[in-house]
Amino acid sequence: PVIYVGTGTCGMVAGAKGTLKAIRQYLTEKSIDAEIIEVGCIGLCIHEPMVDVQLPGKRRIAFSCITENKVEPLLDEILNYEVPAENLLGQYSHPNHEAWDGVKLLGEMPYFRLQNRLVLRNCGIINPYSIEEYIARGGYRSLVRVLRNYAPDKVCDIIEESGLRGRGGGGFPTGRKWKTALNTQDDERYLICNGDESDPGAFMDRAIFEGDPHKLIEGTAIAAYAVNAKKAYIYVRAEYSIAVDRLRQAIQQVNDAGLLGYNILNSGYNLQIQIREGAGAFVCGEETALISSIEGKRGTPRPKPPFPSIRGLFGKPTVVNNVETLANVPAIIENGPSWFSSMGTSTSKGTKVFALAGRIAITGLAEVTMGTSLKDLIYIIAGGVRDGKRLKAIQLGGPSGSCLPEKSLDVLIDYEALLKAGTIMGSGGLVVMDEDTCMVDIAKFFTDFLQRESCGKCIPCREGSRRMHEIMENITRRPVNESGHETLERFKGVMQLENLADVIKDTSLCGLGQTAPNPLLSALKYFREEFEEHIFDRK
Ligand code: SF4
Repeated sequence: PVIYVGTGTCGMVAGAKGTLKAIRQYLTEKSIDAEIIEVGCIGLCIHEPMVDVQLPGKRRIAFSCITENKVEPLLDEILNYEVPAENLLGQYSHPNHEAWDGVKLLGEMPYFRLQNRLVLRNCGIINPYSIEEYIARGGYRSLVRVLRNYAPDKVCDIIEESGLRGRGGGGFPTGRKWKTALNTQDDERYLICNGDESDPGAFMDRAIFEGDPHKLIEGTAIAAYAVNAKKAYIYVRAEYSIAVDRLRQAIQQVNDAGLLGYNILNSGYNLQIQIREGAGAFVCGEETALISSIEGKRGTPRPKPPFPSIRGLFGKPTVVNNVETLANVPAIIENGPSWFSSMGTSTSKGTKVFALAGRIAITGLAEVTMGTSLKDLIYIIAGGVRDGKRLKAIQLGGPSGSCLPEKSLDVLIDYEALLKAGTIMGSGGLVVMDEDTCMVDIAKFFTDFLQRESCGKCIPCREGSRRMHEIMENITRRPVNESGHETLERFKGVMQLENLADVIKDTSLCGLGQTAPNPLLSALKYFREEFEEHIFDRK
């Protein structure tokens, strides 16, 4: 038998370390010869720790919420064949084992049925420590094809034709960005994978790093070849220790396999990939700040233009791509640009991964085809609002995005449609709020986050975000002095907020400041009455 344990960060937080220990102890005590494989997150974070068991010649069966104390009853029943093996699928249940709905094929769950898992295809399924498993599932075929058959500009053409756009938030066409760097005359170029995932509620990149690091490395290597970069950096948050560990091991394996390094596959192309650990500053997700950080300087943004694809790392043309963007690349090379562009809407192609958080029934990761409605994502895939409550708002795009009200549920997942609805795709964080959520508190949370994360380089963002937060603190401070003067002060504060927000948006240097007022402005737009309730102390 083979026993798979989800040991991504979500699994570990739910107790997978204890589960692993209990499984090892059980197998030793009973002298059972079984292989234990650690896997990443399959996307059902709420069901972690997840344990899959594969008996010889049988299907792999996934069990949810297998904490340390549930290991013995589960393995007793399965490994000792008390239940006939052929009946396991669809019939297994244990009084101590909290399955979501008995046992069924994962693909039959609405959560997976409506997904289109391209980027997440291997996550939670394969052993992230094994290059062999990745190769067995078609891995590195695209890199080999590119190195053997295509010139760099041909690779740029394929990606441009596919319609792939940056998944980090901006949605800039990836192929066009690559071409700009490739066509900028210089003796050196760089490729950077931006894995500085710091949005509250976002964990898509982490899942890819932890569950399928080789896919990211393959995408990075293809992108580096396409822009003729000899060096690529993967920038990861230092807090993502499991991700860093798995990436390091994966890079070593690829080097050993001769797919990185000097004269790869006798193609004449050399590539080195290095990991850089970021110290967790939100602003380092901004590409020029990230570049500064890699250069060993303080991670603060600089004005654009020049854009990094013309003058970036160490003054050389540099492409900065998000993790999910690069993880899409191997499949596009393998299946062709028209395969990719046949999925999605007229301007948004392929799929998008969302990190589902907040008051939603299934918290986890879901990858859907562009053009899926928010309603299908929230209600069909993720099971709707927790405890049958009414949906109040959806926060998309992290601190740079906005809260949308319930009436926006029919909006499609598409860069332009989301912009028109008043928010952005962002990197894929989606937080659901129910009827009990105070939207003023949510707005205060984001203003607090942004004033802390402002790097302080420019005054509108540094001082403006602090002032926004002060006003929010003032509105929500309890108990209040009942004098009319204080109410008037709070009222004046809210009146100032919109003007202040406009100034911050218009005059800040980088995207952090330019988008900092978004969560607050959207809360004011759609939930103004809640602010009034706070001001006049009706809450
Ligand atoms: Fe720094 Fe904010 Fe200015 Fe960006 S907008 S440079 S984060 S102070």
